[in-house]
Amino acid sequence: MKVKLITAALVAALCLTGCSSSANSSQSTAENTTSSSSATVSTDSTSAAPESSSADETASSATSSESTETSAPETSAETTAQTDETVSSAPDSNDSDTINRIDYELDPSKPTIAITFDDGPNATTTMEILDVLEKYQVRASFFLIGNNINDESAKSVKRAYDLGCDIENHSKTHSYMDKMTADEIKEEVDFVNEKVKEITGTTPKFFRPPYIAVNNTMYDNIDMTFISGYGCNDWEDRVTADYRAKYLEKKAADGVIFLLHDAEGNSKTVEALDKAIPLLLEKGFQFATISELFELKGVEISGIDTNIYSGLNAQ
Ligand SMILES: [Zn+2]
Repeated sequence: MKVKLITAALVAALCLTGCSSSANSSQSTAENTTSSSSATVSTDSTSAAPESSSADETASSATSSESTETSAPETSAETTAQTDETVSSAPDSNDSDTINRIDYELDPSKPTIAITFDDGPNATTTMEILDVLEKYQVRASFFLIGNNINDESAKSVKRAYDLGCDIENHSKTHSYMDKMTADEIKEEVDFVNEKVKEITGTTPKFFRPPYIAVNNTMYDNIDMTFISGYGCNDWEDRVTADYRAKYLEKKAADGVIFLLHDAEGNSKTVEALDKAIPLLLEKGFQFATISELFELKGVEISGIDTNIYSGLNAQ
């Protein structure tokens, strides 16, 4: 069971700039979907669905049937798509930089996706992504690298949290944690959880392993729910913004978790979101944080769960 899941996880989507060179060797399947330019998005998947049972790269095909089926967009998205440029004055606040929560009710009958970002925080690209989320009034989730948290970048973390986004854990150093001892693993995770608690007052419940590299020592020592996701190599500059946007449109299906990156300078993902989010809203999708998606789908958030989730569809 665990072996199966771990293997599936290894072909899942991955990370990133600065840390990407070593990732590439073990992430060969992630590469083949990014056929450099934009024209079309192939229907094969870059990431393994949690139920995928294949033991190697062929696992990628197991996700297609589920994720290519988009839900009927009979509901209008207009209620959630309000463009919000009027958030300026909040008279009841006592300091100047008040942040208005992106506030909407999730409808269990609507197709729901969770957009997640790895490898922040920073004071630039993270902020630009938050601008887009605010513009379309959708919530998302951020998986932080502990070593990227500093006084400046912490402001984007606080802003994301105040907007209603989830702040989750992507390790302290972004290393291959399947090569670590139990104590090293705990240090990686605790560091981030403590930093996030300091900034937001809330402790993360979800963990995304760097490079989606996992083993049983990690499952035994990380008391959190593991998350993977569907990605399109958006850490590679050669993957165009248009391709990224089309990938999101194509792969969107009820329960899908998208894995994107808010690493510094990743402006193509910002651009892609600005294209894809309004189109997805128009199709009737609603956007949940990762914790909201679990709640909506009735999946328990458990520290002893040995799955790694790319989606909560058809559980
Ligand atoms: Zn990463």
